[in-house]
Amino acid sequence: MVQIDLLRLRQCGTLTLAGSIGPDCELWSGSGLRFSGPVEVGGTAALTAGGGVVVQGSWRVPLVYECGRCLDDLQVAVERPLTLLFTPDGGREDPDVRMIDGRGTVLDLQDAIREEIVLEAPRYYTAGEEDGRCTRCGTPVKEYRSEPQEAGSDTDPRWAALKALQTDQEENDGGSQETGFQAAEAETPHAR
Ligand SMILES: [Zn+2]
Repeated sequence: MVQIDLLRLRQCGTLTLAGSIGPDCELWSGSGLRFSGPVEVGGTAALTAGGGVVVQGSWRVPLVYECGRCLDDLQVAVERPLTLLFTPDGGREDPDVRMIDGRGTVLDLQDAIREEIVLEAPRYYTAGEEDGRCTRCGTPVKEYRSEPQEAGSDTDPRWAALKALQTDQEENDGGSQETGFQAAEAETPHAR
């Protein structure tokens, strides 16, 4: 739960905010994200002159991605600053300003935090490489970029699956190599 007690906030002017939202919370259904732990939110909430509330802080969440190169699960902690502004009129035209019920006693931040995380968390992620090897699985990255020598017993079955996919794409778009990988890598590490 991440809520602000508006009665206390009106008494104190500012409040420290700390809370978490569990990985299994229904809030995340349809988000397309995989969580390996709770979302942690911290910061401060303050009253604004116009009867609104401003929240400033950050969120941090451990996410699980399928590596864009080797498809292994990849745990990535994503952390971003958080600024939320609530005003009694909802800012009218400004989509970044949210509405607050002026007579309410509790301001629930969960929906706003969900929106921010879904917007900001990367859609795709590829493990880094060090000395030519994937930092996740240790496989030389060039194995994912060049043709395998032969489809022998030591060929990773995941490569075979990708290879099939790649061949389909080549047939469909008439040719460019590495289509599948390039698309995944091009979107790393950012969502927008
Ligand atoms: Zn890997």
